[in-house]
Amino acid sequence: MGFKLDRQRSDLTLKVDVVIVGAGPAGSTAAYYLANKFNRKVFLIDKAFFPRDKPCGGYLTSRVFTRFNYLRKVKNKIIEVPTYGSYFYGPDLSQLEWRMENPVGYLVLRIKFDNFLKDLAVSRGVQFIEGQEVVDISIRKNTAQIMLANGHSIHGNLIIGADGVRSIIAKKSGIYSKLDKGICVVTEIKINKEEIDEIFGEKRPTYYFYGFKDIIGYGWLFPKKNHLNIGIGGPSNAGREIGRLFPIFINYLKQENLVPVSIKIKEKFSAALIPTSTALYLNHSYSDRVLLVGDALGVASSVSGEGIYQSMASGEDAAIIANQALDEQKFDTEFLRQYEKLWKKDLANELKMVGNIMQLGSSGDKREILRKIKYFFERMRNEKELFEYFARIFFGFK
Ligand SMILES: Cc1cc2nc3c(=O)[nH]c(=O)nc-3n(C[C@H](O)[C@H](O)[C@H](O)COP(=O)(O)OP(=O)(O)OC[C@H]3O[C@@H](n4cnc5c(N)ncnc54)[C@H](O)[C@@H]3O)c2cc1C
Repeated sequence: MGFKLDRQRSDLTLKVDVVIVGAGPAGSTAAYYLANKFNRKVFLIDKAFFPRDKPCGGYLTSRVFTRFNYLRKVKNKIIEVPTYGSYFYGPDLSQLEWRMENPVGYLVLRIKFDNFLKDLAVSRGVQFIEGQEVVDISIRKNTAQIMLANGHSIHGNLIIGADGVRSIIAKKSGIYSKLDKGICVVTEIKINKEEIDEIFGEKRPTYYFYGFKDIIGYGWLFPKKNHLNIGIGGPSNAGREIGRLFPIFINYLKQENLVPVSIKIKEKFSAALIPTSTALYLNHSYSDRVLLVGDALGVASSVSGEGIYQSMASGEDAAIIANQALDEQKFDTEFLRQYEKLWKKDLANELKMVGNIMQLGSSGDKREILRKIKYFFERMRNEKELFEYFARIFFGFK
């Protein structure tokens, strides 16, 4: 159920508690908490019409359902399949295996998952405005104003910028103008379930190929219920190399019988950006009447690429502080700095840990970095505890 903007008026006189820009996992989670737990009036705005897709692997670590326990009872509606383990390949294509008795994670289709989270927020009273791009904001003494591309504007006490990797809210609020980002190409191919069952079995493992053909990054293969999700990611300056390697990677997967030779890979695949661990390097994650969450903040892991859990977590943290700000009617940076304290308590340690792993393998020139990645894999093969440590961080176990 979307909210219809009155075509006759250019300024909505109704002022809400919080205007959230972006209805991905971060924005919808913030909206859900504000409406469901704190009974606040919320507008959730997205430039896309839903259901909308988002280039992504769609891997959820099991901690999503541990923390956001209201999703447990609807897990079967959200997920495609559980996954019980992974194969990690080093640059020399030798393999390490990680298996668990219980699901390590779950594979979802983002088109379904994000729509579900948005619908859940709407079911708790959030007003959803879709197909409307936010182009500017204005922060005044008594209000925060959001300007839409169609000329309308909306007022709220607070703005939560959940508008992803190219956040307009971050720019217009002056929080930052540019973030360092990783780049990925990804495709999701529909094939029938029996064919996927035959290759991967019911306990769907996921596959990671670090340093594939000397890329400083990794390729992945996620076998979902009846989709294969395949991608490669690396640093922002590796876009061309990743594009060139992608068909080579898919052919390699075919040779290894991990992808049926019969399938035709679309010529067209999505390239997408991911801001990893950049939140730690921001001066601030807030400004007067503005909080940033999710990819707009930069809380995804630079080792695994996981960002959904952290986006939802920062959404919850922002909702808690927004609610306190509304209680006390304090919306200035002095008060909102508590948000930064809260999300850092929540996420900074793991961002630092992945930062440390990245440091091991990212200083020096390309040859040097590859040598370090190879060395790290060799050590993990010989030191069980090191592999255990890596895998636990990778899969979001504390
Ligand atoms: C290729 C790839 C693979 C990934 N794989 C995984 C994975 O397997 N597991 C995992 O956990 N993470 C993964 N991630 C990371 C994950 O996708 C992100 O961290 C997560 O989607 C961030 O959620 P978000 O809500 O902050 O932003 P998004 O999901 O990007 O949502 C932002 C929303 O804001 C809207 N918006 C943007 N600008 C405006 C505007 N001006 N006005 C109105 N609306 C606007 C957009 O339409 C969008 O709906 C991957 C990322 C990439 C790029």
